[in-house]
Amino acid sequence: MALMKALYVHAAVVALLLCSSVNFIQSPTDVFGPVALLEPTPSAARDFGAVVSDAPIAVMRPGSPADVARLLRALSSAGAGRRRPRAAVAARGAGHSLHGQAQARGGIVVETRALPRGVEVAAAASYADVGGGALWVEVLEACLRSGLAPRSWTDYLYLTVGGTLSNGGISGQAFKHGPQISNVLQLEVVTGTGEVVTCSPTQSPELFFAVLGGLGQFGIITRARIPLQVAPPKVRWVRAFYDSFETFSKDQELLVSTPELVDYVEGFMVLNEQSLHSSSVSFPAQVNFSPDFGSSSASGRRKVYYCIEFAVHDFQDRGSSAADHAVELVSGKLSYLRPHAYSVEVAYYDFLNRVRMEEESLRERGLWDVPHPWLNVLVPGHAAARFKDLLMATVVTQGDFEGPVLVYPLLTDRCAPHPTCSSHAKLSMLSASVLR
Ligand SMILES: Cc1cc2nc3c(=O)[nH]c(=O)nc-3n(C[C@H](O)[C@H](O)[C@H](O)COP(=O)(O)OP(=O)(O)OC[C@H]3O[C@@H](n4cnc5c(N)ncnc54)[C@H](O)[C@@H]3O)c2cc1C
Repeated sequence: MALMKALYVHAAVVALLLCSSVNFIQSPTDVFGPVALLEPTPSAARDFGAVVSDAPIAVMRPGSPADVARLLRALSSAGAGRRRPRAAVAARGAGHSLHGQAQARGGIVVETRALPRGVEVAAAASYADVGGGALWVEVLEACLRSGLAPRSWTDYLYLTVGGTLSNGGISGQAFKHGPQISNVLQLEVVTGTGEVVTCSPTQSPELFFAVLGGLGQFGIITRARIPLQVAPPKVRWVRAFYDSFETFSKDQELLVSTPELVDYVEGFMVLNEQSLHSSSVSFPAQVNFSPDFGSSSASGRRKVYYCIEFAVHDFQDRGSSAADHAVELVSGKLSYLRPHAYSVEVAYYDFLNRVRMEEESLRERGLWDVPHPWLNVLVPGHAAARFKDLLMATVVTQGDFEGPVLVYPLLTDRCAPHPTCSSHAKLSMLSASVLR
């Protein structure tokens, strides 16, 4: 039955292409070789945002980059000199897009998780070659076996390498190392014409920089070479609370100006008791912060608090107090609401994988597989306060708003050599993320 369905879908796609103005297919195997096109699964028309749902006509699970190349070559040669076939192609990694970016209405979804996902660590040269469909958590696990790890992360690790390199890949390490797209040595890409190209800052640089942050529009990433650093066994993780946005921002700036001491800086708004509780799920320390959010002020707004989160890598073999000393030194310079700073030591893996616990908690409450409108913006540093006011006046006015509102600084010169950032070198900007 399954075979019949697969054959049916394969035949339907081929028929679609045959019936289009492009009469290029001699036989189905000429075009797609041994690669079966499968009937679309519900997941191919769904993503984390659950706001857009566009069904493809077929799904491909490629066993190798050559399979992807065969498909794209066939579709591209079909369009040469004639009207293009209407089959759009979208790469789909973990499907954690928010607005249908990995969907292809009436086209073909290429599921990159099917590609070889091996992680080859070249320990002596401090890099790893990883499959485009590998999850970052898989990359982390493989690299840790050699005592190494990538430098730049996303908060959540169940995203694919190809998926985040097509976007940006930003987390609390970006102020120090830049986003993930600035931490790539080389890519293997299947272009729209079906060529498998190895590119880097010096080899086909136009393709390299177009694909990084290119939203999947310039080719499909099948492999990436990621630089590694020595992984600390533990991390000292600190949270400090504020009741003023100005002080919170100033302290964030102070933290990002001390990359020699600090390895991770983020921050979030604490809008109500529920948001304080949700943000505490993964932080394994007793937090005795019970702020008064008030009822409603004369302006109709409740009081809002802020939390800075920073972390210091703890290489215990370099002296057990080095990280503690750095935390003490830095904390002493901060103007948080005393005594509300909380510090805890956790394994490096657990720190990087902290959002997994939040996912599990939301799943238990039935809040994971629901629509997630999400605003993600980069705001110039000088407009941060105005942006926060705008946010308060519009998006997060409801008293029960529970989603995270992350606010943390980035330094644009850390985005280099990516050309979209380097022209604004030295300007700082704010990454703001509002997830419902
Ligand atoms: C819970 C959650 C937490 C997140 N946290 C962060 C965060 O901390 N920092 C951050 O920067 N982002 C974060 N994101 C956003 C995330 O990085 C992007 O949505 C990313 O694109 C998702 O990766 P994916 O594998 O799910 O990609 P998909 O949703 O499958 O695809 C996303 C886009 O990339 C394209 N694409 C996918 N694979 C490839 C490939 N191999 N080659 C070329 N194009 C490809 C797709 O066509 C599509 O346009 C988060 C998302 C979620 C849902």
